[in-house]
Amino acid sequence: MFYLKTNSFSGLHKKLATACILSVLVLASLYCSTAQKAKSNNLQPAIVSRQDWNAATAKPYKEHIPIRITVHHEGTKLLATDDAAKKIRNIQKWGMGPDRKWTDIPYHFLIAPNGIIYEGRDVYTVGETNTEYDPAGHLLICCLGNLEEQPVSNEQLNSLIALIAYVSKKYSIPIETLATHKDHSAQTTCPGKNLYRYFQDGYIRSAVEKLLNK
Ligand SMILES: [Zn+2]
Repeated sequence: MFYLKTNSFSGLHKKLATACILSVLVLASLYCSTAQKAKSNNLQPAIVSRQDWNAATAKPYKEHIPIRITVHHEGTKLLATDDAAKKIRNIQKWGMGPDRKWTDIPYHFLIAPNGIIYEGRDVYTVGETNTEYDPAGHLLICCLGNLEEQPVSNEQLNSLIALIAYVSKKYSIPIETLATHKDHSAQTTCPGKNLYRYFQDGYIRSAVEKLLNK
């Protein structure tokens, strides 16, 4: 009897101990996954959604998986005080119009001279180009403005660095693939000499690597 009683008592303890260990494990794994999530998301910059810039609905897309990052400038003058959302709506309207008949705005992300980042077309769809390279597999980032003529603002440059780090991590695109339009096409000076020099001297790449290694 005593033996049985002890046995059932210790059995209860065992169950309680197991329950405690399991709860601790569940809590620990929840904490870890939350911490991990926070870590993988902490590179995400603020991005103005398509809805917020009033994008038109895209036509059916050609899908792809982005495996490289390619940077452009838009090529027409835009100042930090100008209405970037209006400019982006016009780029989309022109691209989807009779001139080009594209399915959407040509780029996956756009960055205004004041540093605000805008969502472009779906990242898993092939972008568009007026030149001879095939944009399939390229994640296209466009800095608004004519960066052959106008200087790159610190805000635009810093947002570009932050966005490159974010997309590189989010879509598992190696930073070694980072390049510009003119690196893929002989038909253009895009992204303009005032931005290109930060690619030539390695400034953008090393700033992105710093963010990724934080
Ligand atoms: Zn370009």
